[in-house]
Amino acid sequence: MYFVRRWSVRHAGKLSRVYRVFEALLFLSTPLLKLTGFSRLERPTRFIERGAKGLLFDCRMCGQCALTRTGLSCPMNCPKEMRNGPCGGVRPDGNCEVKPGMRCVWVEAWRGAARMGDLETIAGIEPPVDHRLWGRSSWLAVARERTEKKQAGDAKR
Ligand code: SF4
Repeated sequence: MYFVRRWSVRHAGKLSRVYRVFEALLFLSTPLLKLTGFSRLERPTRFIERGAKGLLFDCRMCGQCALTRTGLSCPMNCPKEMRNGPCGGVRPDGNCEVKPGMRCVWVEAWRGAARMGDLETIAGIEPPVDHRLWGRSSWLAVARERTEKKQAGDAKR
């Protein structure tokens, strides 16, 4: 919902702190997740993620979440799906060229990033959307990536 999405950006500082706790718990539980099997967990995790992030951010489940790098403003809500900053059509009032009643997701993103106290990360470059990942859980992808990195690190020692 649009107003909830905007509320989330207004509270990006607090919400990002909550997310960091969640992320730490997620990382702590990766051995358990690995034991259970990431593929077995995909369906239930996707269900929970879709519900929570759909409510708070109008998440569309692109499978490669950028929220922590975009001030908690989901770039996939941009009608042009711009993932690296706004197009040239932002209106003088900060609204979208395509949907005049909607605030540009990138105007929101910079405000959210400022509230998170991080204006550096948002300036980084996001890779193009990998369309094979649509509908998949980003949470599990992050946990899986972390496990693989840790395994690679252990193997080098
Ligand atoms: S970036 Fe992708 S996963 Fe993250 S909230 Fe937006 S659609 Fe959902």
